[in-house]
This record gives sequence, C-alpha cells and structure tokens, in this order.
Amino acid sequence: MYKVILIRFGEIGLKGKNRSTFVNQLISNIKWALKGLANYKLERTYGRIYLYPKDNLEAILDRLKMIPGIVSLSPTAIAPLDYRKLEKTALEVFQDAVEEYPATFKVETRRANKNFPMKSLEISREIGAHILRNINQGKENRLTVDVHNPDFILNIEVRKDNIYVYTRVIPGPGGLPVGSSGKGLLLLSGGIDSPVAGWLGMKRGMKIEAIYFHSFPYTSDRAKEKVIDLAKVLSRYGGKIKLYISYFTEIQKEIMKHCPRKYNITIMRRMMFRLATEIARQNNDLVLVTGESVGQVASQTLESMQVINAVTNLPVLRPLITMDKTEIMDIAREIGTYETSILPYEDCCTVFVPKHPVTKPRLETAIEAEKDLAIEELMEESIEKTEIMLIEE
Ligand code: ATP
Ligand code: MG
Repeated sequence: MYKVILIRFGEIGLKGKNRSTFVNQLISNIKWALKGLANYKLERTYGRIYLYPKDNLEAILDRLKMIPGIVSLSPTAIAPLDYRKLEKTALEVFQDAVEEYPATFKVETRRANKNFPMKSLEISREIGAHILRNINQGKENRLTVDVHNPDFILNIEVRKDNIYVYTRVIPGPGGLPVGSSGKGLLLLSGGIDSPVAGWLGMKRGMKIEAIYFHSFPYTSDRAKEKVIDLAKVLSRYGGKIKLYISYFTEIQKEIMKHCPRKYNITIMRRMMFRLATEIARQNNDLVLVTGESVGQVASQTLESMQVINAVTNLPVLRPLITMDKTEIMDIAREIGTYETSILPYEDCCTVFVPKHPVTKPRLETAIEAEKDLAIEELMEESIEKTEIMLIEE
C-alpha cells in the first residue's frame, strides 16, 4: 500500500546557501544507511526527500528513524487523481494506522494541484464522512471527528500527477547530517555511555573517529570485539569509522607499579586523554568526545573532570553530561548499541579499579603521583603499537 516514504528535514532547511550541501550530505548518509538493506529509488524536491521502497518497508523506516538530519518520516500511499479511488486509498491507510477504538480523527488536505475539481475543505469533509461511515458501520461513536485535538490526522496532498495519503508521522532525531560539522575523536569504551555520546555528537553533524584503550591480556579480545561491534553500529549513521585500538597494557602496569592506588583511575584517565589528544592532533580531529556524566562514578565528579581535563588543550565534548542513566539507556536501545554494551566483558577500569578511588582529586597531588611515570616514553610506545581499523557494518 505504501509506495513512497516522505522524508522531512528541518534544521538543515535553515542554512541558506549551504542548504544544498546539507541535503546532499543527508542523501548520501541515507544511501549509506540502507546499503544492502533494501531496494529503493530516491527523489529530491526543495523541501523533502521521497524514497520509493521496492521492499522491506519496515526495515527502511526502522533504520531511517535514527539518521541525524531527518525530522520525520511518513509511509505514504499514492492514489490517482480520481476522487473515488482516493476514497478507497484513504480508508485503507486509515485502517492500517488506527488499531484501537474509540478514537478521534480529522482529515487535512493540501491541494497544490488547483486543477483538481474539488477544493481542500470539500475533500476533507467528504473523505472524513466516508471514513466515519465505514469504520462505524452502525456502531455509535467508535470513531468521531475532533478538529482541535485528534488522535489521528489523515493527511491528503493533491499533487500534479497523483494524490498522497498518509497518517503515520514517525519522528526522526532531527539535528544535522553527519559530515556537516567537522570531525571529533570519541573515546569509545565497551560500556553503555560512550556509544550514545558518539551518536549524539553525530546528531549535531559531527564525523566521528574512535579510540579504544585496550589492556590485553587484562582486558580480553572479546572486550575488543565488543568495541568493534559498537563502532559497526555507529557506522550505520554516517559512514565508515576509523577506530584506533590503543595499546594500554604497559601504561596500566606502570601506573600500578609507580602510583598511589587512590589515584590510579585519575592517572589512568589522564593518560587516556593525553593519548587521545595526540591521536586527535595527528588526524585533525577538532575535539574529544566522552561518555561522562556528572557524578556517575568516582572519576566523573567535577573535581575529577577538572584534574583529568588539565592534560588536554582540546575542547572535550560530553554530550551526556546532564543525563541520567535511564535516559542514556533509552537512547542506547534506540540506536541499537544497548544489547552489545551490556555484554559482560570487563573493561580496563573494572580490572584496575582500586577499592577506594579518590573522588575529589587535586591537580597538584595528581602531578606528584605521576612523577615516577615515564610519560613521554610510555606514550611513544603506545602510539607505535596502536592498531588502526576502518569499521563498517
Ligand atoms: P562507558 O559506559 O562509556 O564505558 P562509564 O560510565 O563506564 O562509561 P568511565 O569508565 O568513567 O564511565 O569512562 C568515562 C568515559 O571515558 C567513557 O564514557 C569513555 O568515553 C571513556 N573511556 C573509559 N574507558 C575507556 C576505554 N577503555 N577506551 C576508550 N575510552 C574509554
Ligand atoms: Mg566504562
């Protein structure tokens, strides 16, 4: 029944002469996201993208609804320019969208094609009456019209060659298409938070590269596979992801050997930030992105963030900073990373975490605690042994 999906984009419509670049970027991201998933044809007009699916409608909708830049989607039926046929299509679309009664509805018609013999209001009224008659069929008040606050709106657009009919409006994430706002380096662990942080960066148009600090054999190869899988999911939303598997074993060991236990996590995270900053510099990544959220764990107090942040001169974006865990988990489920994130493989923090990590570290104390670490040499070795992968699903 649904021959076309209307794809609406909002914010990117506001960008004046950059608009075309933005829409092109969105189209290329849509093509990327649907690669191997379905067959379809795309058409672009000034304000919208039309996608004509040949198969797998629901899979397409499911994938597109999390693509940054898309504001909403409507699976849409097409009727010829013929009132009787429109009646039939409108009823079918309505019945498909509305499953529970009692319900209220209204019909909204836009008539771009002024040659069509009926006016908008007349079409709405007649189609509304037709639907009421058929749905109610003798029963009272199963379906009623409510023009102010209806449960469902049946939309009709009379166009030059045909008539579009839809009810479902599936919200997308909005934001900007990935690739329209520069590049950032995501610190990607195997947890729930950092993939969500990465996706939120992508939602503002950022291209993401990722770095994972791997402490083999303290963290297993399964933990690494998990991160690769998470990067694969993220790659759906905006193209291949360059993933750095940073060699972190020696650094962990040296921290254990030379630094006070209480400061292990603080120093470990300072080392992560130092390495990330260097990799970002080599790649022209403009910012770092992390999955931190205030107060979630010992290393995420404001005091910790300040001490950890002090080793980098790059802006550190923390898209989750004000979010609660439940909000973060909701997004993780929607973008498809949750199931992978909750697999129980250890990360480096769980292996090395001291019983009583400091929650209010002080910068001078952290610097003092690092004095026996050969920071430069450790970084050099780590960067040399870093593995680079190009991830796609
Ligand atoms: P996540 O769920 O993302 O693992 P978390 O709640 O476990 O986060 P922390 O372990 O304190 O929090 O890590 C905070 C942030 O630091 C992570 O969101 C991630 O951006 C980064 N990070 C932590 N461990 C690693 C790692 N092994 N590799 C890459 N980044 C890491
Ligand atoms: Mg973690």
